[in-house]
Amino acid sequence: MARDPRYDILFEPIKLGPVTAPNRFYQVPHCDAHGHNMPYGDASHRSVKAEGGWGVICTEQCSIHPTSDAAPYAETRIWDDGHAKQLGLLVDSVHKHGALAGIELAHNGYAFSNRMSREIPLAPSSTPVHYNWDPIAAREMDHEDIRDLRRWQVDAAKRAQNVGFDVIYVYAAHGLGIGQFFLSPHTNHRTDEYGGSVENRARLIGEMLEDTLEAVGETSCVALRFATDEMIGAEGITWQEEGQAVVEMYAELPHLWDVNISDWKWDSGVSRYFEEGHHEPYVAFVKQKTTKPVVGVGRFTSPDTMIDQINRGVLDIIGAARPSIADPFLPKKIEEGRNEDIRECIGCNICVSSETTSGRFRCTQNPTAGEEFRRGWHPEKIDPKPEGVDDGVLIIGAGPAGLEAARALGQRGYDVHLVDARAEVGGRVIKEAQLPGLAKWGRVASYRDIQIGKMKNVEVHLNTELSAKDVLEYGAEVVVCATGSTWRQDGCSHTNTHEIPGSDGDNVFTPDAIMAGAEVKGPVVVFDDDHYYMAAVIAEKLRKEGNEVTFVTPLMELARWGENTLEFEFTMERIHGLGIEVITDYNITNIGGNGVDIVHLYADKGTRTIPCSSTVLVGSRLPNDALYRELVADPAVLEAAGITTLERIGDCFSPGAIQVSTHGGHRVARELHAGPQPDVSYKLERIALDQEISVA
Ligand code: ADP
Ligand code: SF4
Repeated sequence: MARDPRYDILFEPIKLGPVTAPNRFYQVPHCDAHGHNMPYGDASHRSVKAEGGWGVICTEQCSIHPTSDAAPYAETRIWDDGHAKQLGLLVDSVHKHGALAGIELAHNGYAFSNRMSREIPLAPSSTPVHYNWDPIAAREMDHEDIRDLRRWQVDAAKRAQNVGFDVIYVYAAHGLGIGQFFLSPHTNHRTDEYGGSVENRARLIGEMLEDTLEAVGETSCVALRFATDEMIGAEGITWQEEGQAVVEMYAELPHLWDVNISDWKWDSGVSRYFEEGHHEPYVAFVKQKTTKPVVGVGRFTSPDTMIDQINRGVLDIIGAARPSIADPFLPKKIEEGRNEDIRECIGCNICVSSETTSGRFRCTQNPTAGEEFRRGWHPEKIDPKPEGVDDGVLIIGAGPAGLEAARALGQRGYDVHLVDARAEVGGRVIKEAQLPGLAKWGRVASYRDIQIGKMKNVEVHLNTELSAKDVLEYGAEVVVCATGSTWRQDGCSHTNTHEIPGSDGDNVFTPDAIMAGAEVKGPVVVFDDDHYYMAAVIAEKLRKEGNEVTFVTPLMELARWGENTLEFEFTMERIHGLGIEVITDYNITNIGGNGVDIVHLYADKGTRTIPCSSTVLVGSRLPNDALYRELVADPAVLEAAGITTLERIGDCFSPGAIQVSTHGGHRVARELHAGPQPDVSYKLERIALDQEISVA
């Protein structure tokens, strides 16, 4: 199918100074947790997007010098030619598909404490380092330091150009780029020519731009990644003051303006609190002040929103990090008139948590993200099933795990029956999508439902609860249990490993009961020992329904894990803003008819009773694996029924975030009839030992 001509503008080439991008799809720099240690994984993750039609593919932030060392977070580096050579792998793989390669050269100033290099961090003014409360101050840069910094930027730019990068950045965004720290009155308290007036505070950005242009600008695009607003009011950069001033001052200097808002939690806003295109009020002015192209982001997944941004003169180029992770082939799908095949980002920021928890790169919607190199998973291609294998597959449970398994097994050519007790597919995501702010979770189900709907070899049977007997009589050779999980009624979780007394009372509810529409009488105590989003979302729902709500958690802060997905501060704001009382550092010892008893975890303050009519325990979940256990118990019965393979996946295997289920569903599909799997199930990236060096 041909694309809709309305989208033609997205496919027009655009000049970025001395280079030309083949289209308007631009993967802006974003972290992918591979860093300098895993160059093959990084290159593979990015090149697959070039294959999928993104016209420009950038690195993540790339440190230019050991005084900027983001450890423990995995980041790329270009401290020497060795690092540059590693990055060349990415450049070559991206070029192979006709895309341009960009590099975000970064000096992180006072952001991190340089845990690995042990160099003292640098800043415009002496200040404690920003992240992780590390007990060290960044020192105020003198003029020699500033000259050094400018030289490091130039040297890094030349190294980048030598290995073929087409777009080379100066960085002043995300609360990570030193240009931003000089510009912001929040972090710059200098009294010399780099402090005071906006012109003085913007001086370093101008100098770094001029230096980089002089060094590499004749043949490479020099881009400025610029946060127009720090979202902290007049104490920091505001788009009306510093934002406009910088764009006016340097309007025609960079070849490309890459604009956003700071810090990362504002830039990559979770869908729970931010809509698609939420940057617009802060960046729309930029195009009015420059003739140079402008790229910006906003979790754009809809081609209509994309052309709207261009047609209304907000942006020239559609930037994306998360939408490109969730669907590396988004541009190709629009080009081929297959908009309904786009795997839309749900804005959950699990991808961000890969970086913030120093884990493997992962995405809820795209289970192949981060697995391109080490497992050889391609986001669109999968091997057909081998000839002559048993191809009748029964999947019990159409939640994220079952749906993804059915989609991928269907793509491989198996004859799949997907059966669910409920009246609709989606399992937990459909239930959770009804809760405040989680509507986008539903995309996990709808994307897969649409794909499965196109496959003649996949049948979906709803309103059908299967027993072990039903499964044995079904006639499928391969059986996959994807029967999900259930929130525990007894409150057991991180803090309480034994039943909370009184948790079996009629006035005690679990998230499952709330999602099933249980009538909860206020006042309510919500006890959070899960620490991700569920307790806060339920508290919000119950409060909005008019109940008095008290939020109790054994941790020092509510919904603490949300720090990793950049939603924690917004959740604090929401919960406190709704007038919900928050009690931290307390555990529940007993639930009675008229209230709950709580005790302080660290001080002997006696027992405190909170009067309430209902309690919601948000602890942990247990797998719904009774069906699997019954089936697996007797191999002879399985054999007699003709079942050759029995698997369990997703929450039925072990409950986790939604991404664990989509990954598990995808993995079972990849590995079915793929032969025995090795103990280490993926390729490792190893350090090559230098034969010349021995250890004394
Ligand atoms: P996951 O995240 O692992 O996919 P979910 O809880 O989202 O888990 O989905 C599990 C699905 O399995 C639910 O939609 C549920 O209705 C379905 N299910 C559980 N047990 C059975 C059963 N015995 N027969 C049919 N469907 C079942
Ligand atoms: Fe989008 Fe979530 Fe995937 Fe990140 S993890 S790209 S936010 S779907």
